[in-house]
Amino acid sequence: RAKELGGRRVEVFATHMHADVVRRLEIATDLQRALHENQFAVEYQPVVDLATSRVTAVEALVRWWRGSTFVPPEQFLGAAEDTGIIVPLSEWILREACREVAAWRASSWDIGLSLNLSARQITAPRFVESVSEALAESGLPASALTLEVIEEMLVEDADDTITKLSELRALGVRLAIDDFGTGYASLAFLRQLPVDMIKIDPSFVSGLGRDETLTLLTRTIVRLGHDLGLIVVAEGIERPEQLELLREMGCTRGQGYLVARPMTARSVDSLMRTTLQNTA
Ligand code: C2E
Ligand code: MG
Ligand code: MG
Ligand code: MG
Repeated sequence: RAKELGGRRVEVFATHMHADVVRRLEIATDLQRALHENQFAVEYQPVVDLATSRVTAVEALVRWWRGSTFVPPEQFLGAAEDTGIIVPLSEWILREACREVAAWRASSWDIGLSLNLSARQITAPRFVESVSEALAESGLPASALTLEVIEEMLVEDADDTITKLSELRALGVRLAIDDFGTGYASLAFLRQLPVDMIKIDPSFVSGLGRDETLTLLTRTIVRLGHDLGLIVVAEGIERPEQLELLREMGCTRGQGYLVARPMTARSVDSLMRTTLQNTA
């Protein structure tokens, strides 16, 4: 790579750089190109009501196909955040997902959209405007949109973040805490920000029925969420036993490979047709 860039100085510099830094620089260049060449796609993972199995929402998940290689979000989101590419990328995901979910709703399918936010996206200058514009342009009602944040975004120097999320909530948008239970914030943020939903991290759900402590913790989080009047979603449901226990605990909603995998918009279309046929 350094040789390609030309010059011995570059090469020497590169060899002294941490391998990870070099990789990040390469990824930054690739990300810029990927955005221009439309290599990104959005997939949707259904969230279901655990009592009725009805699909209540879909969570938008970004996908990057670099040529024929799939790059998982966790391998490029950090670099996208560092380079600022996350801002235009998130803007694109927001518009795309609002448009697609609005179209499904127009076919009389009553579902909501969950979107993952990045820290940098929220603090970008036109964040609140870009969300309200995406809603207005797509016709998606604010109440059908849930924005997911993680606890870390709500702790240090989070005044700007909390102000902006509160503004959006005042417009009717819902807020969710993703990966609940894994962050540093514990429960402090629940006083700072009015949230509507918590999503229990898979690290708790994975232990259901197998690990006494994790089972107890999950039960406690479900009860806490309900006592606070929140919608509780369990993430990462893979085994029937987990589903049974969550139902028995009274957990409202669930998401995971056992229920449905993330799927393309086209597959969501078929899912919708089957669903609407069966409920007609
Ligand atoms: P997340 O928001 O907690 O999303 C859930 C992740 O768990 C997704 O991984 C999903 O594919 C995966 N998953 C769902 N059910 C199961 C299951 O039963 N078992 C297992 N093992 N995994 C399951 P994915 O798509 O790789 O996304 C990883 C993370 O990347 C997301 O975690 C989210 O934090 C972030 N992310 C994904 N899409 C976006 C996006 O559009 N914008 C932003 N800012 N972040 C995103
Ligand atoms: Mg999420
Ligand atoms: Mg999560
Ligand atoms: Mg996560």
